[in-house]
Amino acid sequence: MRKHIYIIGMENLMKTKKIIIAIDGVSSTGKSTMAKDLAKELGYTYIDTGAMYRAVTLYSIQHGFFADGQIDEAKLQAAIADIEISFRFNPETGRPDTYLNGVNVEKEIRGMEVANLVSPVAALGFVRRAMVAKQQEMGKAKGIVMDGRDIGTVVFPDAELKIYVTASPEVRAKRRLDELKAKGETASFDDVLENVKMRDHIDMTRKESPLRKADDALELDNSRMTIAEQKEWLLEKYNDRSRNR
Ligand code: C5P
Repeated sequence: MRKHIYIIGMENLMKTKKIIIAIDGVSSTGKSTMAKDLAKELGYTYIDTGAMYRAVTLYSIQHGFFADGQIDEAKLQAAIADIEISFRFNPETGRPDTYLNGVNVEKEIRGMEVANLVSPVAALGFVRRAMVAKQQEMGKAKGIVMDGRDIGTVVFPDAELKIYVTASPEVRAKRRLDELKAKGETASFDDVLENVKMRDHIDMTRKESPLRKADDALELDNSRMTIAEQKEWLLEKYNDRSRNR
């Protein structure tokens, strides 16, 4: 009888051992939808690191740090310690909203204005160092699904499960356009496609933590996958990883 109780206890312990899941990849691949769904399924915390770089960009717009589309690095550097970013669960959407210095900015950070300016901001070393430190702090207790560009390479190089997501630029532009339209924003396919390609280029060629697949990441090309197929793929990988630990 005692032995039986012991075995059940060990099983539960193994099941509840929390891990870090890093999801990286190019923009508009539906990474965040898949990361959010996975976190919900596992009872994990979802952290959208792109939202943090977007919030820094919005702060820079609000404070007039941009002139002709160029960021004034010195002004942003002087202000970086004053930028407070947090996430709070929104019971209406069942997902976390992004707060910038206590104000809900979830809607503003998703628009084209921020999308067009975010990559140069995210390429700045001092911005990355500040965000990475916050992200590492948020993930200390494990039990997180974090999505971004450098999670498996820089933020959590020891993450237990790493996924690298890709899809063709055209497929991604179409998805992004549908998303913008659903929110009532107007944009043309060509503009969105150009933004997707421009962000890929800046993210992959920047000096600081360029976007690249970690050697031990599993690659997922979801160009022809439905959200349900993708979810199944991901749960399978999670279960494989949990079994093999
Ligand atoms: O993921 P999302 O498209 O919202 O990210 C917005 C931008 O933030 C990306 O295009 C990229 O330039 C930057 N980013 C980054 N590192 C991360 C997450 C996002 O450089 N970990």
